[in-house]
Amino acid sequence: MALAEPRENNTIIDLASIDERILRVRAGFTSRRTQPLHFRKKQLQALDRLLVKGEDELLDALSADLGKHRTEGWLTEIAIVRAEIKEALSSLKSWAAPKKVRLPAAHQPGKAEIRSEPLGVVLVIAPWNYPLQLLFSPIVAAIAAGNCVVAKPSELAPATSAAIAHLVPQFLDGSVVTVVEGGVEETTELLRNRFDHIFFTGGPNVARVVMEAAAAHLTPVTLELGGKSPAIVTRDANVAIAARRVAWGKWLNAGQTCVAPDYVLVHPSVQTEFIDALSDAVQEFFGVDAATSESYGRIVNARHQRRLERMLRDPEAGRVAFGGSVDAQKLFIEPTVLVNPDLGATVMNEEIFGPILPVVPCADLDAAIAFVNGRPQPLALYVFTESSETAERILDQTSSGGACVNHCVQQVGITQLPFGGVGESGTGAYHGQAGFDRLSHKRSVLNKPTRPDLRIAYPPYTAFKDRLYRKLL
Ligand code: NAD
Repeated sequence: MALAEPRENNTIIDLASIDERILRVRAGFTSRRTQPLHFRKKQLQALDRLLVKGEDELLDALSADLGKHRTEGWLTEIAIVRAEIKEALSSLKSWAAPKKVRLPAAHQPGKAEIRSEPLGVVLVIAPWNYPLQLLFSPIVAAIAAGNCVVAKPSELAPATSAAIAHLVPQFLDGSVVTVVEGGVEETTELLRNRFDHIFFTGGPNVARVVMEAAAAHLTPVTLELGGKSPAIVTRDANVAIAARRVAWGKWLNAGQTCVAPDYVLVHPSVQTEFIDALSDAVQEFFGVDAATSESYGRIVNARHQRRLERMLRDPEAGRVAFGGSVDAQKLFIEPTVLVNPDLGATVMNEEIFGPILPVVPCADLDAAIAFVNGRPQPLALYVFTESSETAERILDQTSSGGACVNHCVQQVGITQLPFGGVGESGTGAYHGQAGFDRLSHKRSVLNKPTRPDLRIAYPPYTAFKDRLYRKLL
């Protein structure tokens, strides 16, 4: 019986079809068809074909949603997922192989191993900023681990969501991966159901909703969240290169990147040189007027445009070193650097998630470390220094989901490095084997022969047995 509800934009949410889709992939999982590795490989190859054959449609959609240049869309969305697929295809056999465990003498004879088993049906909920990569990369891990997937793309990237919903059924088995488009209502309906894992990428407020819904079914969750990722530029940094790399990581996707440097802590002796070099880099990347550059993206929607404009106009946000112009009609905000913001300003307390970069002078390393440690653990931390001692000191004395020395954002594109947060920036990591392990159950299997069956191992307990146990164990 279809339960249909009208939505503001007059489209109809067919909630019953959501339940039907979940049942279909549940049946797909129960049939155990995803168990053989060759089946999983076929699905991964099909996903790869989707990305090749659907490339134009997907890149057009990314451009419509976020003004993403096709090259940037290919690099940061399609290529990353294809690298994940390639790694899974070449490593699946070894990831999935049972891992033998040597038994201690007291437990001999016998054999022990750890097997990787699929969890079941995984719900993947994706955000809008990398709407393709952040939906498909968890799907690669889920398929590799033998799971079925209900995929919920972000409604705030509607063209990409539609392209994904259009392409997935053409390439992937509908009893293995199904796409449910929609926003809050649809996700709420999805979350009423029991899944075997929920893989959520997004903000902390919705993460709380997801965790609460998961708790009702005791469903484990992976939460890929965000936060304020600092970049520390020390006095011995190669300032020109630090600035160019910070500029690249910050203004990629118009700053709407979860691992973008959110703010910079800079040694006062190199602050002016650093800001000048940032300005040079922006001109080199996007010309004198970024509004006319095809390489520079747009803000996702009017609500985020207003949020960012409010941050920018806050009198406590600091002096505008360069940039600052906006065009609300075109969802454009110029690459902008703010200097010396008040630490109470919104821009220093909320995740910026846009093209505004506060630069905060920081007297020394101890002050920079204390600054970072005084705030929730970020998703990423960047250190720019020519001294490995300085880099080690900062890494040793701080904590973050991931880190990168003398570059930024790049750590995410390396499939061999687990990607995830810590504390408020998230729970659990994925990419490459980490994703396979995250979406597998590690089942310990001990196999004992029936002979020998020594009576001494059973009650009744005696003083002699007590002495023997204490000696053996
Ligand atoms: P969001 O939390 O608003 O939305 C994420 C998903 O949740 C969307 O699919 C949305 O439809 C759904 N959703 C929204 N409200 C809901 C509700 N009330 N109940 C159930 N589902 C709901 O996040 P966003 O705005 O799409 O993305 C921005 C955030 O994501 C930032 O905080 C950013 O740092 C974070 N992020 C993290 C990563 C990462 O990999 N760690 C990557 C990208 C973005």
